[in-house]
Amino acid sequence: MDIIVQKFGGTSVGTLESRQLVVEKILAAKKKGHSVVVVVSAIGRKGEPYATDSLIDFVGKVNNDISTRELDLLLSCGEIISSVVLVGMLQAVGYKAISLTGVQAGIITDGCFGSAHIVRVKPDLVTKYLKEDYIVVVAGFQGVSEDGEITTLGRGGSDTTAAALGVALNASVVEIYTDVNGLKTADPRIVSNPKTIDRVTYNEICQLAYEGARVIHPRAVEIAMQGNVPIKIKCTFTDEPGTLVTSSLQPYEETTIKGDRLITGVTQIVGITQVCVDTTGLDDPCFNMKFMSKLAEEHISIDFINVSPDRTVFTVPDGTGDKVLEIVKQFNVDAVLRRGCAKVAVVGAGMTGVPGVMARIVKALTLQNIQILQSADSYTTIWCLVDNRDMCAAVAALHQEFGLGE
Ligand code: ADP
Ligand code: MG
Repeated sequence: MDIIVQKFGGTSVGTLESRQLVVEKILAAKKKGHSVVVVVSAIGRKGEPYATDSLIDFVGKVNNDISTRELDLLLSCGEIISSVVLVGMLQAVGYKAISLTGVQAGIITDGCFGSAHIVRVKPDLVTKYLKEDYIVVVAGFQGVSEDGEITTLGRGGSDTTAAALGVALNASVVEIYTDVNGLKTADPRIVSNPKTIDRVTYNEICQLAYEGARVIHPRAVEIAMQGNVPIKIKCTFTDEPGTLVTSSLQPYEETTIKGDRLITGVTQIVGITQVCVDTTGLDDPCFNMKFMSKLAEEHISIDFINVSPDRTVFTVPDGTGDKVLEIVKQFNVDAVLRRGCAKVAVVGAGMTGVPGVMARIVKALTLQNIQILQSADSYTTIWCLVDNRDMCAAVAALHQEFGLGE
């Protein structure tokens, strides 16, 4: 059996017209002789009847602090509805199709409601129906914990479902269908002329995804990489080839060794607060140790950390600023919070050891009068923290500086 997994996100199943295009993509694969497993996200965005937000609003009318267990049970319905609708459409045009919940598809997770991790997949029922020539449509974004509770997988969860099924079923490819025709050098909602990248490695796309390129979830990439299942990112609305993700950019037969791309892309994450703690005059050498342990105890995830003798600087998600202030008070130190920042990242495996990349970043941002509030680097990524107001201009300037546009 040559199995392919096709995942259709919220951007693809939103309207009747787009769902008809989804059906066409599924049938095209089926007609080529593949066994097809489809993974779907929920139908509709905010305001529409079965969208995730609408379900939350609905139950919020009776209790807006309902337990995370019940919330997961509720949210899992969105994808189930979507899978049934799609199966209805496939059956209507004469195909054998069957919908499965995450539980039925054998998606086993840990017990962390709202952001569960898939721990293993037991796809017996999927395999059974594939053997009977069914198109199997699985509700994405959900699973079941070892003790039988329904869980959801958090943002990008359907990508993860698709990758996990792809690996478990030994699929020849996992196709992620969305509203853009592949991975681009920057978010097309921010930059007007990003290039579509035809091939990337798992590592490159994983880096971009972790830094904010939300076209695919990084966990999905990691899972596919572990099983060495290729991913294709394609557009539901066009027939373009999209982006192929594999472990190496070279086919086996070729022997030429091409250098890594200097820069693969520019990404952004918004909604960040910068915290600067003044530690001058503190005579407690264990301050940072105790302070950071306290933040961890309160489940505050910190990033962009920079410790020097007179100050400790880091970032937190915008929503946690007030909690950080409370903790700062307990430690009797002064801190300044700057809310509404964005982290812009320049990502590229080829930048390792190449002099002048940071100089070009600083030049590009300075020429646009954009202040860098903080920066950091690793061997494949340089990050700059900027004010949210400057985010779009910063991404565009960096994209242009490295000649990434079309
Ligand atoms: P889906 O509902 O299909 O999962 P998402 O909204 O999660 O779709 O992801 C698709 C979106 O990802 C695109 O509309 C695009 O705005 C955004 N995006 C961000 N960065 C990139 C990038 N580097 N390349 C392509 N798309 C990107
Ligand atoms: Mg998505």
